[in-house]
Amino acid sequence: MAGITAARISEVLSGVRTGLFIGGEWVAGAGTLAVEDPSTGEVLAEVADASPAQGLLALDAAVAAQKDWAATDPRVRGEILRKAFELLTQRAEDFALLMTLEMGKPLPEARGEVTYGAEFFRWFSEEAVRIAGRYATAPSGGTRLLTMKQPVGPVFAITPWNFPLAMGTRKIGPALAAGCTIVVKPAELTPLTTLALVDLLTEAGLPAGVVNVVTTSKAAALSEPIIRDPRLRKITFTGSTPVGRTLIEQSAQQVLKVSMELGGNAPFVVFEDANLDRAVDGAILAKMRNIGEACTAANRFIVHESVAQEFGARLAQRMGDMVVGRGIEDDVQVGPLINAAAVQKVSSLVADAVDHGAKVLTGGRTVGDRGYFYAPTVLTEVPRTAGMFSQEIFGPVAPITTFATDAEGIELANDTEFGLVAYAFTESLTRALTVAERLETGMVGINQGIVSNPAAPFGGVKASGIGREGGLEGIEEYLETKYVGIAL
Ligand code: ADP
Repeated sequence: MAGITAARISEVLSGVRTGLFIGGEWVAGAGTLAVEDPSTGEVLAEVADASPAQGLLALDAAVAAQKDWAATDPRVRGEILRKAFELLTQRAEDFALLMTLEMGKPLPEARGEVTYGAEFFRWFSEEAVRIAGRYATAPSGGTRLLTMKQPVGPVFAITPWNFPLAMGTRKIGPALAAGCTIVVKPAELTPLTTLALVDLLTEAGLPAGVVNVVTTSKAAALSEPIIRDPRLRKITFTGSTPVGRTLIEQSAQQVLKVSMELGGNAPFVVFEDANLDRAVDGAILAKMRNIGEACTAANRFIVHESVAQEFGARLAQRMGDMVVGRGIEDDVQVGPLINAAAVQKVSSLVADAVDHGAKVLTGGRTVGDRGYFYAPTVLTEVPRTAGMFSQEIFGPVAPITTFATDAEGIELANDTEFGLVAYAFTESLTRALTVAERLETGMVGINQGIVSNPAAPFGGVKASGIGREGGLEGIEEYLETKYVGIAL
């Protein structure tokens, strides 16, 4: 583990405050919660474990701060976000190491997440001063139609473990820019990054109560009373579709404004005229970014029958050569999965596919005897009935099936309840645009294996969610439109 010493690890870990952050104060939890390193299974830190009552205290703080924060000048809100962007950029190495430790991703990828995550603060620092309405004359004359944008109010954000920084900044950034206060509940598996982030926001000048963080092992019991509280006005969630459905149901009670980034089942379609070099590079990115643990991960490789063999062989070669190991070690490209349950799920999906006739080109096994490592795996001739074609794999496994006509390829791509992202590789502009129009997803990558960009609207259709994060659309999720009719 050249480079990262034990002293460096303990320096970064000891810099993280481990309490609950409520109303600008660090307070103890009702107990503590252990955070594990998935590459060793060892405990990295103990953080506060909030009780449901403490969750409501955090909401109290957000409610108390809402009016003043909404009245704070947009430029001031923007400059706090800008300062937070600068601090994050300065401390990129610390945040990257923290994420690698608690989540497992290789350090270069963690550094990439700091760049990506920080950019949401910069983007929304620029959006804070561009919130505007309209003024129009009614078609029948006389009445003037004035529309204004106002912050929706206190927000509850629930974030997942796979991108510990970026999933927080892309909710906190627009909320703060819009003038909303927020309670953040990070995933219990990776809370350290969010705790470090709120400390940094305070240093950037954020007033007390505007962002509150509650870490807890009791996600459901803590969340439900917050969601059912009439003072809350919005929930924003990134996580699995089943949990998202539950939260939407709970949100119905107070008719909350809802943003949901849920599961995916991304098709990666390679047409007969694709540039295979680009397709294989794109496949590595779309499949292996974040160890395959991304809702945007390519889940089904749908490849034209004339190029499937070559594509599969080249992908298997590249994936088979990838270095698996602890994310803090030099040259590692594939870290551990998040926990034993994730390894179990991936293993059983592979076993199911093989039972149904799939062939293993590379991988298909766990790696090592500690931590949660799974080898990069490519499967061909995967029958369409295999479980991994309908479920999110969330691991480094690429299943390939083939198609003969464009219509068949598109039909296969759309044959899922999910609709987050799709990737298509073709050298034909006509085909690219036709396919992009026909794919039933919120996002499409053409000849590229990554679509995430803070300046673009991220989000899905169908069971993949409601709402968009980033782009010009991102701030709208945190604003209400008020219309004022004026008789002249
Ligand atoms: P994953 O399968 O990726 O862990 P989850 O949807 O289970 O996705 O978790 C995403 C986030 O949702 C985490 O912060 C988790 O603690 C939280 N969570 C899980 N179940 C609930 C629930 N019933 N109510 C509120 N939050 C929940």
